[in-house]
Amino acid sequence: MAKENRKIDPKKPKFSAYWIYAIIIIGFLVLNFIGGSGWGSAPKTTISEFENYLSNGEVQKVVILNRREAKVYLTAEAKKLEKHKNTRSTSILPSSPSEPDYQFEFGDLQNFENDIAKIKKENGLDTSVIYNTESNVWGEIFITLLPFALIIGVWIFIMRRMSGGTGGGAGGQIFNIGKSKAKLFDQNTDVKVSFENVAGLEGAKEEIQEIVDFLKNPDKYTSLGGKIPKGALLVGPPGTGKTLLAKAVAGEAKVPFFSLSGSDFVEMFVGVGASRVRDLFKQAKEKSPAIIFIDEIDAIGRARGKSNFSGSNDERENTLNQLLTEMDGFGTNTNVIVLAATNRADVLDKALMRAGRFDRQIYVDLPDVRERKEIFEVHLKPIKKVENELDTEFLAKQTPGFSGADIANVCNEAALIAARKGKAAVGKQDFLDAVDRIVGGLEKKNKIITPEEKRAIAVHEAGHATVSWMLEHAAPLVKVTIVPRGQSLGAAWYLPEERLIVRPNQMLDEMCAALGGRAAEKVVFNEISTGALSDLEKVTKQARAMVTIYGLNDKVGNLTYYDSTGQSEYNFTKPYSEQTSELIDKEISNIVEKQYQRAIALLEEHKDKLLELAEVLLEKEVIFKDNLEKIFGERPFGKKEEESVKEPS
Ligand code: ADP
Ligand code: ZN
Repeated sequence: MAKENRKIDPKKPKFSAYWIYAIIIIGFLVLNFIGGSGWGSAPKTTISEFENYLSNGEVQKVVILNRREAKVYLTAEAKKLEKHKNTRSTSILPSSPSEPDYQFEFGDLQNFENDIAKIKKENGLDTSVIYNTESNVWGEIFITLLPFALIIGVWIFIMRRMSGGTGGGAGGQIFNIGKSKAKLFDQNTDVKVSFENVAGLEGAKEEIQEIVDFLKNPDKYTSLGGKIPKGALLVGPPGTGKTLLAKAVAGEAKVPFFSLSGSDFVEMFVGVGASRVRDLFKQAKEKSPAIIFIDEIDAIGRARGKSNFSGSNDERENTLNQLLTEMDGFGTNTNVIVLAATNRADVLDKALMRAGRFDRQIYVDLPDVRERKEIFEVHLKPIKKVENELDTEFLAKQTPGFSGADIANVCNEAALIAARKGKAAVGKQDFLDAVDRIVGGLEKKNKIITPEEKRAIAVHEAGHATVSWMLEHAAPLVKVTIVPRGQSLGAAWYLPEERLIVRPNQMLDEMCAALGGRAAEKVVFNEISTGALSDLEKVTKQARAMVTIYGLNDKVGNLTYYDSTGQSEYNFTKPYSEQTSELIDKEISNIVEKQYQRAIALLEEHKDKLLELAEVLLEKEVIFKDNLEKIFGERPFGKKEEESVKEPS
């Protein structure tokens, strides 16, 4: 396909509007010059010389211009005199009779008039004196228009800036503000993505395979009277491969792919969004069969009529309406399929999900262990690894909760770390360092920590480790460190089980383990510190969720105040009464307090082991499950053992 699309082809020379401005300004200057004093001006002279010429009778007439300047016209005889050789008549330019021979500024008009009158009277001359107010027409037009020109110039400049400059916009021309900013990928672009590049996501791939099929052989479906769907919504957390999936569809179906983000439609000018939608669909239809991919559709697709206190969202609504109209408008035979991605399907306008629009929803979840392994396999391919050292299964187990994008990031980060160490290939430790770094941020080896503080941190982390070791339902521990990293001073790492439903016991045990840090400080030093902030935050949120969302509290009962439609998002009023509000607060604080006391009791009982662990931690800085086993013996709850991870290398 030829690159006739002006928005995509970067090589098309741009005609700079600055040339137009330059030409206009030069034109004005030139006209000003001509209209004013011709192609040059008459030779200058002085008052005394002029008076000399006048008394000699050489002057035919004097024109007083604008009460300021005098133009002197000599008589025919005088022009022939040797001293007037340099006047216009003898210059290279042909002179017209209306051109003066001399000109000069005389200063005070009154004096000048008196002088002329005196000389005329003395010599009996009848030289004519003519008054003239000649104005410079072009000059005045120029002066009058200048402010407008400036204002228009500034306006154009601002508009270009706002339309995205030369970057996203089509050469940044003001006239293109209503044009869509979609990036086009087609046969000519070398970004090629196929289903092979997408690991895991079996279900989503299967559903989306159908769309590829629709685009490839629409007749197969339409001949039986079926209608080809117009859109599919990819729903899932960021970085899970939604864009990748959409690109793979385009790559597999071998059709042009228009990619843009929901926020690209929105501009501060009224009507721009809608006109961009129109333009996008027009372009797609021209190239059909085609795929339009709108990332972050929630930027325009939020439910209408909510969240607008000021009415300032009208523009967004117009954009959304236009999108709906376009999707309704194109017939089943247009072969344009709209894919959209969002991580919040619940806030989208219901009209978007109606049949005939985004009638399919494809869920793209965070990958589980098996899927993470596959994603690692995809991203490890281009990396030069140490032979037989990397076990993708091990890596997958080390990265619970990571999205596909995180895993891609780990692989890249590992390569960078290995390169920094001057290695020839990337090894296991580099990957583990990369994981640590992505989870916790950079190691801060030179952070100033007093020995006292260090001991407090060790006790705190040992507290987490001890409590979680003792509790049946707490997540198994992977490692504990007191190396400061990013914002945190130390960390206990668990391997959360990937469960679909959670029982109150599990939640309570996890909260107890999270409070184990502060409890250990209390037990060992009989003092608490600010170091438990993030633990407390986590615990408080969890307790609140138990009471107000999951209905796991006896006193509040089987109620939830969660609203999946997102309708209440902008409500300022609580969905419960003052009494309930009080009850909720009391129950939350009860839950947290009970777990804190439980952690303290546990640690009092095993204080010797807690202190022993803290000492090991102080010495080694990083300890793994094996070290814990040496102190505590085998963990009593064996069933999860095979799931957890052995100490690396
Ligand atoms: P989203 O659009 O869901 O936010 P992206 O599709 O942009 O996420 O994913 C970002 C990057 O993460 C991709 O370019 C790819 O490198 C990686 N990635 C995510 N999911 C996967 C997957 N399932 N398989 C392979 N790579 C993935
Ligand atoms: Zn802690």
